[in-house]
Amino acid sequence: MYVDSHCHLSFPELSGNLLEIRRAMSEALVDRALCICTTLEEFDKVHALATAFDNFWCSAGVHPDSEGVREPNVEDLLQLAQLPRVVAIGETGLDYYRLNGRTIDAMQWQRARFRVHIRAARASALPLVVHTRSAAEDTLRILREEGAEQTGGVFHCFTESRDVASAALDLGFHISFSGIVTFKAATELREVARFVPLDRCLIETDSPYLAPVPFRGKVNSPAYVPWVARQLAELKGVTVAVIARATTENFQSLFRVPPLT
Ligand SMILES: [Zn+2]
Ligand SMILES: [Zn+2]
Repeated sequence: MYVDSHCHLSFPELSGNLLEIRRAMSEALVDRALCICTTLEEFDKVHALATAFDNFWCSAGVHPDSEGVREPNVEDLLQLAQLPRVVAIGETGLDYYRLNGRTIDAMQWQRARFRVHIRAARASALPLVVHTRSAAEDTLRILREEGAEQTGGVFHCFTESRDVASAALDLGFHISFSGIVTFKAATELREVARFVPLDRCLIETDSPYLAPVPFRGKVNSPAYVPWVARQLAELKGVTVAVIARATTENFQSLFRVPPLT
């Protein structure tokens, strides 16, 4: 049985096909998923998924790429964090990939938003779901400055170097691999996946984006997460059952989700 630790089932590409997706998940032995929040405006929809289905959970947070949306303060996030089935703060972090002509200095608002999330995670004792793109150094620095090792969490959809993985592991964080690890050009990332200890690995789809090979370019869904597991199994020289069991146990301990009975 597999867990998708990061998906966006509230996005329009997926939200209209929920029953079909759930059927595909169960055929693919994907028994649980964490639905990730990207704006406060979206939260009710994400939370509704987690309360409607006993194998879905959700996070609360505002994505670094979300602009022109309500800016959260610590109190906003704490209120959401105490609702049932909210198991993480995020996704949050830094993304300097889409600067749209701005300087990194001008992205101060992203760094301030990230700090708000880390403070909320510490105050609520929930783990962080961290998104980082072209901003690894600042991401690690801010996590350290804000004492994020006290909450832990996951670097999701990991695409950074082995050194960044190592620093994240030192901070007590998990590393989550997505379909990108199956892409032909992702040679360096596959080396990182070999390096990260199995007891700190998670798997995810980040659906609807980043469908793994052989579905690359199609709309992704949690049902495809076993393809990420297969790639990890090959890289680590273990069976896919070993990967499924380890990533499920890691998911349960990180997000304090009870095992299925
Ligand atoms: Zn992300
Ligand atoms: Zn995401």
